[in-house]
Amino acid sequence: MFFLPERQEIICYPIAGFDNDLRPGHRRFNFIWYRVGDAQALKEMCVDENGHQHEHSVPPPLIRKDLIAQMRAEAEEEMPPALLDALRVIEQPFFTPIYDFIAPAIVHGRVALLGDAASNARPHMGFGVSKAGDDARALAAALRDHDDIDKALAEFNRIRQPIGEKIVLHSRKLGTHMGVDLKTKEDRDMHLLLQDYRAMMDWIAVPDFLKAYE
Ligand SMILES: Cc1cc2nc3c(=O)[nH]c(=O)nc-3n(C[C@H](O)[C@H](O)[C@H](O)COP(=O)(O)OP(=O)(O)OC[C@H]3O[C@@H](n4cnc5c(N)ncnc54)[C@H](O)[C@@H]3O)c2cc1C
Repeated sequence: MFFLPERQEIICYPIAGFDNDLRPGHRRFNFIWYRVGDAQALKEMCVDENGHQHEHSVPPPLIRKDLIAQMRAEAEEEMPPALLDALRVIEQPFFTPIYDFIAPAIVHGRVALLGDAASNARPHMGFGVSKAGDDARALAAALRDHDDIDKALAEFNRIRQPIGEKIVLHSRKLGTHMGVDLKTKEDRDMHLLLQDYRAMMDWIAVPDFLKAYE
């Protein structure tokens, strides 16, 4: 389920329950609300219930109750009933700032970077787990196919670094929807295009998006 107000994105989807339980009634429901903040707002949000300043995020039980109450009040103003049904039963919401990054090389000597350590796309992609899994498979295949470990790692870097990079570049395109740091005309045009939810659906639900970067 997508809800796309201006400079916000709400995405909800079912996920497995504990012990990978897929039975109806035992699954969990991911509810994500992306909102635009800035460094000062984040700093203030990172002061916990005991007044302690954290750097990037706060352990969920320590998130200040006034922040959670404010979030709930703003949701009641803005969200449609179907989303409020879900939000109201979340006992322990938490927040996390969004960053992205690309490692220019994912092999350094005998160290190979996989998953989020290799590249970390903005979460519009919903691609982190698949990429981490495919990184692992590619590393296993390279080690299987080469007796020389350095050659295997070079092959892993050759195949997977560009894929991680493309995923991050695509996630930045999707991220222009939020209207933050629109530096180029291309960014601004993309931002305008993605204000139409049909364009957002077109761009987000593209299984073979990597082909556009070949
Ligand atoms: C809120 C949220 C929602 C997400 N939703 C989705 C989604 O819907 N779909 C999707 O595909 N992806 C999603 N992701 C992204 C996804 O979780 C990651 O891309 C994925 O988990 C990356 O796997 P990884 O193995 O690289 O890293 P991780 O899963 O982070 O694993 C790293 C592990 O290393 C451990 N570790 C760290 N430091 C040390 C140390 N010094 N010694 C030993 N162990 C250590 C950590 O405890 C952790 O278990 C989401 C992420 C977040 C935060």
